[in-house]
Amino acid sequence: MSDGTMSNGTINPVVPEGVTLPIYMDNHATSPMDPRVLEAMLPYFGAKFGNAASRNHSFGWEAEQAVEQAREQIARLIGATAKEIIFTSGATESNNLAIKGIAEMYRERGNHIITQVTEHKAVLDTCKRLEKYGYRVTYLPVKADGLIDLDDLRRAIDDKTILVTIMSANNEIGVLQPVAEIGRICHEKGVIFHTDAVQAVGKVPVDVQAMNIDVLSLTAHKIYGPKGVGALYVRRRNPRVQIAAQIDGGGHERGMRSGTLNVPGIVGLGKACEIAMQEMATEAERLRAMRDHLRARMEAELDYVEVNGSWEHRLPGNLNMSFIYVEGESLLMGINDVAVSSGSACTSATLEPSYVLKALGLGDDVAHSSIRFGLGRFNTMAECDYVADKVIGIVKKLRELSPLYEMVKEGIDLSKIEWAAH
Ligand SMILES: *Cc1c(COP(=O)(O)O)cnc(C)c1O
Repeated sequence: MSDGTMSNGTINPVVPEGVTLPIYMDNHATSPMDPRVLEAMLPYFGAKFGNAASRNHSFGWEAEQAVEQAREQIARLIGATAKEIIFTSGATESNNLAIKGIAEMYRERGNHIITQVTEHKAVLDTCKRLEKYGYRVTYLPVKADGLIDLDDLRRAIDDKTILVTIMSANNEIGVLQPVAEIGRICHEKGVIFHTDAVQAVGKVPVDVQAMNIDVLSLTAHKIYGPKGVGALYVRRRNPRVQIAAQIDGGGHERGMRSGTLNVPGIVGLGKACEIAMQEMATEAERLRAMRDHLRARMEAELDYVEVNGSWEHRLPGNLNMSFIYVEGESLLMGINDVAVSSGSACTSATLEPSYVLKALGLGDDVAHSSIRFGLGRFNTMAECDYVADKVIGIVKKLRELSPLYEMVKEGIDLSKIEWAAH
């Protein structure tokens, strides 16, 4: 492992014992299922196939009981009560239901919604659609560290504001917004507070009471559960929040979300929450140690690397780094046995720099040279060493070929150069 191979810039470091390639280090995109979650789900694909809405026989009761247990498990993790949990197909739906459902329900009271620029597209695009229907949306900026300014929020709230929707943790840079402070401000002003807590739930403590959260989105597949199942927490007391259904039908989920429940998925989500509740504290420490090690290794060997987003207010498993003077696509291709995400988003044919990184003030080239390392439950320290070796090797190699890097090393100020048009 750290046998010196990295210092001469090899791009094929030794694979440590116990490490198999490819390495998955993209846990913000999705996480592998925990085997304990799969085990809990299996009976509900087989003998326990009942419809949780069937009231007349034991097949239905058995399914309903499993669903109610999951509701409890989820509620416990976020300090809610079981009745406040609504099941959905995932956080994209939860965000849509929360924002559109509140916008519709409170239209008489006002038409103003506040969000911020680094939200997930499931929030931003939902807000954009509401603008077409006559809602007014304020998109708060973020500071260079990725956090919103609470004074901006206070100033943005007016007598037509019905909803503030600000994420708990960002999926690219792992930055934790000051949710408790946001909740306090919203409650003082009598405005509903929704948070997309997909990346935070199960990773850092989330308590809807202590943090004055009224509505909260979460999803199973980011916490070692199955894809295609999520939940929306909807506060029932102080204040009681009402949400207009966006899917009509049989009146399931207290009328807020019709449709036959995905019982195996819901059981998996519940189990995932139960495990997170028990293991979050120790897991967070382990992830933080691995993440810090990964950062330290790369910073010891490479110059012109920068961490994106606040280091202090951050998910334990997130490291987002720019490798300046390196071409992003070549970097990613060079580490093709490691699954990570880049600071580029594929939109149709072109490679766009991440809007999240741009919101922090990064230039396009720096954004493209960025990598998100998303550490999770099944990563190991040995994997981190391999990934560090690999990245160090390829960055050194690419910089050997980079005229920009050469010029910087020679002390030339790139900002003073007049480039020929091309
Ligand atoms: C993954 C993610 C979503 C979307 O969740 P799905 O369950 O995949 O629809 C929403 N918000 C954030 C912050 C996410 O990371």
